[in-house]
Amino acid sequence: MAQDGYRKPLPTPSPESKRYWDGCHNHELWIPFCRNCQKFYFYPRDFCPACFGWDIEWRKASGRGRVYTYAIQHRAWHPGWQDEVPYVTALVQLEEGPRLYTNLIGVDPDPAHVHCDMPVEVTFEDITEDVSLPKFRPV
Ligand SMILES: [Zn+2]
Repeated sequence: MAQDGYRKPLPTPSPESKRYWDGCHNHELWIPFCRNCQKFYFYPRDFCPACFGWDIEWRKASGRGRVYTYAIQHRAWHPGWQDEVPYVTALVQLEEGPRLYTNLIGVDPDPAHVHCDMPVEVTFEDITEDVSLPKFRPV
């Protein structure tokens, strides 16, 4: 479902990140996996950032993770967020290992309600007909 009047920057999928954004569009979290290291990594690249190998594949992530760290944003750094402050940005450590920068939703933007190591799960916000953004909410 597209939202009219969306005023924030939209992602521009690159050839390397297209699989990730296609997954988000289908409300699935897909992340790259290195067959050599037997580990996931993020952000999307055509080669593994640990071994620099090109033997990678995409795998569907569980969508579960924990808050590694977070910040409560009280200033709108872009006019698109003017009506949303305060809101919570977070680095979520996925169950599979990599960390993903995202927004926490469904939680009061208050340190009394947000904490590190809090279990979270992905949810997708449909922005346009083509773009859905992964956000996380408390489990
Ligand atoms: Zn590797």
